[in-house]
Amino acid sequence: MSKLTCKKCILDSDIPGITINEESGLCQFCESYKPISPDEKKEYLEIIGKMLEENSGKGEYDVIFALSGGKDSSYGLYKLKKEYPFLNILAIQFDNAFISEAAVANAKKMCEIVGCDFFKLTMKEEALCDTFRKAAGSTNAYSKFARYRASDICNTCISIIKQKLIEQAIIHKAPFIVFAFTSGQAPNPIIDLKPSFIKWSRDLFEKQLQNIGVEDRDESFLLKNEIIKSIDKDATPVILHPMCLWDYNEEKIVEKLIDLGWMPPKINDSNSTNCLLNAFACQNHINKYDIHPYAFDIAGLVRSGDMTREEGLEKLHKELSEPLIEMAAKKLEMDLE
Ligand SMILES: [Zn+2]
Repeated sequence: MSKLTCKKCILDSDIPGITINEESGLCQFCESYKPISPDEKKEYLEIIGKMLEENSGKGEYDVIFALSGGKDSSYGLYKLKKEYPFLNILAIQFDNAFISEAAVANAKKMCEIVGCDFFKLTMKEEALCDTFRKAAGSTNAYSKFARYRASDICNTCISIIKQKLIEQAIIHKAPFIVFAFTSGQAPNPIIDLKPSFIKWSRDLFEKQLQNIGVEDRDESFLLKNEIIKSIDKDATPVILHPMCLWDYNEEKIVEKLIDLGWMPPKINDSNSTNCLLNAFACQNHINKYDIHPYAFDIAGLVRSGDMTREEGLEKLHKELSEPLIEMAAKKLEMDLE
């Protein structure tokens, strides 16, 4: 059968697991897609506003913000503080040993602009490289669903970030953790973390690390069990994804950021403005599973109308940067196939 591409988003029948309904011309995700309506968005934002107000000042910080220094999180931080100026925010940038210098400069700059504390979370470079190398060499460490959302390397990295940000929120007694995921990446705006869920997700990630061959005995990547034990059961952190409720337009966001003094990155990667490992991670994932790890993310943005179909298709088919791939392979001491 010849390749069919969904009429609404960018997914096509060559991607394993995707079926295009020949009559409607839509993929299974677009067929069952129910967007958050403008009214629902308004309601969610009202709830979030109220939650933030009511819980502000209860902990050392109100919000732990995941700041990569890339466009989405830089804009997300700016917008969050603009919408809710009373928030006392700690922005945390995870140094995965592959973040660009520009991303670090941008992250610090954004914190200065909005007036919040900045913390760069660093780990041993050798341990990180070893873990990413093992993630690249692994197959099926994560669930089938996770494989559609991100590459094995990205899933490993983002899991470390989630674990350590929840840890920081518990330590600082911050009631909220904010991620700047777009509607394509995180359609659920409010996630109430229960202690049992926190423990479950920690143990799940431990198993996933073991699947790739990493024993994190000193809990460098995992949420420390000691800290889970110290959770105040009546004040567990809530994860917020406000970006999926705000209007999103990539071009306008970058324009606004440049206005503010954010430096556009010089790295040639259409899917990441901050991570120098991303192109390698994408290539590795495509080689292993024949799935572009950004396909679902891009499809989600197109489906929700936050990106045009043309832009989405262009992004999906843009060649990955060879120099970036080679550079990352060299640092990871891996041969390219
Ligand atoms: Zn579709």
